[in-house]
Amino acid sequence: MIEINDVSYKYKNGNEVLKNINLKINDGEFVAIIGKNGSGKSTLTKIISGLEKPTKGEVIVNGINTKNKKETINLRKNVGIVFQNPENQIIFNRVYDDIEFGMKNLCANIENREEVIHDALKKVGMEEYIKKDPFELSLGQKQRIAIAGVLALNTKIIVLDEPTTMLDPEGKKAIYEIVKKLKEQGYTIIYITNVIDEILLADRVIAIKNGQIQKEFLKKDILKNLDTLKSLNIELPVIVQILEKLKQKNINIELEEFTIDELVEKLSMN
Ligand code: ADP
Repeated sequence: MIEINDVSYKYKNGNEVLKNINLKINDGEFVAIIGKNGSGKSTLTKIISGLEKPTKGEVIVNGINTKNKKETINLRKNVGIVFQNPENQIIFNRVYDDIEFGMKNLCANIENREEVIHDALKKVGMEEYIKKDPFELSLGQKQRIAIAGVLALNTKIIVLDEPTTMLDPEGKKAIYEIVKKLKEQGYTIIYITNVIDEILLADRVIAIKNGQIQKEFLKKDILKNLDTLKSLNIELPVIVQILEKLKQKNINIELEEFTIDELVEKLSMN
């Protein structure tokens, strides 16, 4: 579990970018964090993963206070982070070495290292690239390698900071499929995004505005919170627009039920 207790954060230049954040994220939960550029989303992920320490308040991750310097390695064994640009995360010119480097950094003195790396690559559908040069892969493939790097560390919490921004539609789709599987496998997922397809993968949505939690709602209640999405210029898929229009006509169909076939069936019954 992640507990963020009354956290504020100021950068060294005195810029207070998080203000009195209170948030609990349960094990196995998938949370989408949305908000305008500069609202503090990335800073929040840095605070959760312990890369930055709160200026006020505390962050407790699986019982570890992120301010406790003796627990730094332990904390990194609990939270993995995937950034927007996969190119910034590659160091070696062999996929295997790149993933192994992250493991060595965490002092993961695992005997079955090869097997762990192989399994991690399999989870992202990249096992046949184990000996390839990551610099020669597409951006989408690079991002999948970055995710495998995190999976090899066996962290139960994965933070993804706008991981598909730089990818083409095919690359984006591959990431969605991976993330969906990780959710099924019980990982705790914190996903920063303003893309509706990605928001809809989550159980809960948290909107950040000017460093504060502006709104928090369950994905199933998204139709009651479209104003929040619209205020962020998030494009709504046609199906959500249809459900919204129906709602205005007092036909309430929950988003949970939203396969097209089911919707058509419901409408023909009305
Ligand atoms: P978001 O991820 O929502 O775009 P960020 O967390 O990146 O927002 O940034 C929040 C605010 O913090 C912005 O005003 C940004 O300019 C500022 N900021 C980000 N990084 C630094 C830094 N290293 N030093 C000072 N200010 C920063």
